[in-house]
Amino acid sequence: MLTTLAGWRIDIIVQGYPGKSVCHGGLGWSTIALLRGHGRVVLVDVGSFGQRQPIIDRLRAHGLAPADVTDVLLTHSHWDHSINWVMFPKARVVIGADELAWSLNEPWGTTPVPELYVRELDRSAQTVRVRAGGEILPGISAADAPGHTPGHLIFLLEGDRHDLVFTGDAAKNRAEILSGDADMTYDPAISRRSIEAIRALWQRKPGTILVPGHDLPMVLEDGEPAYLGTRAAAVSSWFGEGLEQTTLFQLTIG
Ligand SMILES: [Zn+2]
Repeated sequence: MLTTLAGWRIDIIVQGYPGKSVCHGGLGWSTIALLRGHGRVVLVDVGSFGQRQPIIDRLRAHGLAPADVTDVLLTHSHWDHSINWVMFPKARVVIGADELAWSLNEPWGTTPVPELYVRELDRSAQTVRVRAGGEILPGISAADAPGHTPGHLIFLLEGDRHDLVFTGDAAKNRAEILSGDADMTYDPAISRRSIEAIRALWQRKPGTILVPGHDLPMVLEDGEPAYLGTRAAAVSSWFGEGLEQTTLFQLTIG
């Protein structure tokens, strides 16, 4: 478990990974968080195809099935965060109204927007379009954080002592948060302003946790960012002549 806050129990069920593949395009290993409380079962972002089985397995480890999920909060429309909304037939699927409208008008075949999944989301009775401000769930509100995509939202969970901020890809990883510079953004200047706003939220109350879209959660300890949790990422490859012979590549340091 990551923490408890404002009546929510929060677990990171899939860790985000701060890297991209060198030869094969986007890696897309994004963060998926589970929140339980107030009679709800909530996922913040839901990943992509490769994460379907880990989602099922890790929900089961918490005694849950996909049909138990009551709410899906999407930070943005990109494939590596959004397409698995179809796994949760009983969930409200919350997305920024502007983000969904923008994604529907992106040209097909050239961007990270999953054309057919956002089209179905637009048609679905499960979809709830929201704007910044106002309470989405008890203690949870959305704020605008454009740059990575124009309608990107971050989700703020406010507690008594400190807060928790789901940044999605407005600040994908530690390097972006600390440097203020964003990789893969449609507008670097707008991204920089969003990252500055995220940093201000982080510094507002001691102990506030950031959950980035592609990295481990972080907290400020004496002004220095510290990871919460241990990174686990590896690839197992078949370079031999039988399936039993594999080579393991650890994708972590330290
Ligand atoms: Zn992403």
